[in-house]
Amino acid sequence: MRKIYFLFIIFIAINSNAQDLSFAKKMVDTLTSPFFGGRGYTNNGMQKAADFLASQFQIYGLQPMGGKDFFQTFSYPVNTFPGKMEVTVNGKNLVPGKDFLISPDSKGVKGKGSLEQADSIQFINSKLRLIVKLEDKLTWSAAPVQSDFSVIQIDKKAIDDNPESIIVNIENDFVKKFKASNVCGIVPGKIKPDSIIFITAHYDHLGGMGKDTYFPGANDNASGVSLLMNLAKYYAAHPQSYSIGFILFAGEEIGLEGSKHFTENPLVDLKHIRFLTNTDLAGTGEEGITVVNATEFPKEFEWLKKINEENKLLEAVNARGKAANSDHYFFSEKGVPAFFFYTLGGIKAYHDIFDKAVTLPLNEHEDLFKLLIKFNEKLMGK
Ligand SMILES: [Zn+2]
Repeated sequence: MRKIYFLFIIFIAINSNAQDLSFAKKMVDTLTSPFFGGRGYTNNGMQKAADFLASQFQIYGLQPMGGKDFFQTFSYPVNTFPGKMEVTVNGKNLVPGKDFLISPDSKGVKGKGSLEQADSIQFINSKLRLIVKLEDKLTWSAAPVQSDFSVIQIDKKAIDDNPESIIVNIENDFVKKFKASNVCGIVPGKIKPDSIIFITAHYDHLGGMGKDTYFPGANDNASGVSLLMNLAKYYAAHPQSYSIGFILFAGEEIGLEGSKHFTENPLVDLKHIRFLTNTDLAGTGEEGITVVNATEFPKEFEWLKKINEENKLLEAVNARGKAANSDHYFFSEKGVPAFFFYTLGGIKAYHDIFDKAVTLPLNEHEDLFKLLIKFNEKLMGK
């Protein structure tokens, strides 16, 4: 059952007259709140985020892309950690997320024992089928498979000596068919509705590691979602000559599952897409942006650069070639002209518990908004 939550109503009330940047900040705050649990694989977080975002599309006045509702649902396997997450090393209780991570493809593990040094950073207990690894920086991820052993990554700064003893209790649930939904809306064009400009961003992140620890994913990618939602609100109020389509992808972090599914089961004819701009990691920008596929579509890239210079928006618009690093990839592989841009500079939190709304500047949000509005005008021949 899809419900509209009370929280959403509060959100709308606060934002009905807000300006662009405060809208974006509120959107990032909301999406990174504990209610959405990191928009992943625990506490129903991804589903709650999909419901919330679809309810916003409805309020802005977008139409469902695929007919009856805004959801395009599919499934894939995922290894999850919804329960106990306890690790004690050399007698010290470690904090999940801050001091240690469980590698995303690990199986659950419970027991205690000593650790044998394998090399300068790896320590093993073969009875528990457990490897403890020392790391300089903890970076989490999501996995569609489960190994028959467990790896615990420990931040070097969390313990004083080499790990010698461990007590561990980590619960694990391998979900064979995790259900996820892309959220797809459209503002029909007034003159050429069969020509479509797409704006896309993934809304999923990594979810929780244990009951109490979650990965907020403010920069990755609540920031890109906030930009997309701002544009969706704008275009719904100002329909254009072309149709403007919006896709919020699920399953990006586990391997571009949502965009792969959409390109294999498109809700519009892919040939009708004039251009697609995907945004992922849009929360900083003091050093400008990098545009993936710039070298593939040099004419459009020149437009983007020129618009940026004429309007004195971003510090730099850098060119990059092809890369399979976000949701534009399967589209451009199928012949859809597409860019993917990400912002440069500022905080370095990435796939960790520190990627929070409170430290995300969103300093170029308004410039990115203007850049895309003007770029899309150019695409429509204005
Ligand atoms: Zn991302």
